[in-house]
Amino acid sequence: MFNPAVFELLKTDSHSKARLGRLTTTRGVIDTPVFMPVGTQASVKALDSRELLEMGTQIILGNTYHLSIRPGMEIMAAAGGLHKFMNWTKPILTDSGGFQVFSLAKIRKIKPHGVEFRSHLDGSLLFLGPKESMNIQRIIGSDIAMVFDECPPHGASAAEMKGAVERTIRWAKECRVQPRAEGQFVFGIVQGANDAKLREHCAKELVAMDFDGYAIGGVSVGEPEPEMMSAVEITEPHLPAHKARYAMGLGTPAQLVELVARGVDMFDCVLPTRVARNGTAFTRKGTISIKGGSYKADFTPIEADCECFACKNFTRAYIRHLLNVNEILGLRLVSVHNSHLFLKVMEDMRTHLAAGTFHEFRQDFIAHYRPTEKVLLARQLHAAEKQDR
Ligand SMILES: [Zn+2]
Repeated sequence: MFNPAVFELLKTDSHSKARLGRLTTTRGVIDTPVFMPVGTQASVKALDSRELLEMGTQIILGNTYHLSIRPGMEIMAAAGGLHKFMNWTKPILTDSGGFQVFSLAKIRKIKPHGVEFRSHLDGSLLFLGPKESMNIQRIIGSDIAMVFDECPPHGASAAEMKGAVERTIRWAKECRVQPRAEGQFVFGIVQGANDAKLREHCAKELVAMDFDGYAIGGVSVGEPEPEMMSAVEITEPHLPAHKARYAMGLGTPAQLVELVARGVDMFDCVLPTRVARNGTAFTRKGTISIKGGSYKADFTPIEADCECFACKNFTRAYIRHLLNVNEILGLRLVSVHNSHLFLKVMEDMRTHLAAGTFHEFRQDFIAHYRPTEKVLLARQLHAAEKQDR
């Protein structure tokens, strides 16, 4: 009935669960591990499709919830789908809207076949369920559609979590049989927070439905880093090796390296463009605030040896000046650098996986990357808790 997604597992690391793979879609081949820049509103913030292609982007993300509200599906259908609308010819993955409904919208009622909620924009009453979400993703014409799931907030009760997992399984079944766009793959989403039994149950039910790939959802919902890592660790063993695995909404460059080592193939994250708007740049040694005073007369690039357009052509002092006088070029240049870095780190991982040197790369990368204070504190707390047990 549907074209099954072709994922080839090319190589597995001998020291970790890291995988080198290749996902073939009708709009092109995606080499994994892959980072997918986020284009929530039909735009990867501040970057155009030419820049994305130049920095080696293989696939971008679009969002069901946001695009269904604006521009709406009438315009999307008239445009001939999202690829044509935004002039992006490579693959697109669409999030199902589940995450946004549960995090942004004002929920009125969870019903058997979806959620009734009020738009975060104008308060109008809307309804989104498996059928509606898959129909929107069909009109958008994404190459990979995600099932409509329930993503409870971090710290939800065990009962809430169990209900969410049961609905996620039931809704996945409904999504599975909805009409699709030509060549569109559908990925299931495993929920279950940090409950190993729930995660296993959810994964097994979804795997039995035979999706084209599987995502680990319910991460990046405000949980500390050790919990995020453990959610992936308890889910991964229940996912089939011959299908792509996608960890939703993660993470920093160092976290991406650690998650690849835990067997994840696909990632998306708003961090590169979001922190750029605050004047923060990612480097291989951690984040730096370009806006900060210390770079006032620093005429070196954001990162030495970086091959991105911003680093090859402009200095920290210049970009800092642009940011401080609110020139739009400043945040554009930091967005270019940050997105390029995330893509380059993935490319490096693919190179090292192919060469059999991923283990050395991982050790070296983690040794040089300084996490934020918040991440360091969470790790310390986790280590102390482990000792107490
Ligand atoms: Zn750069």
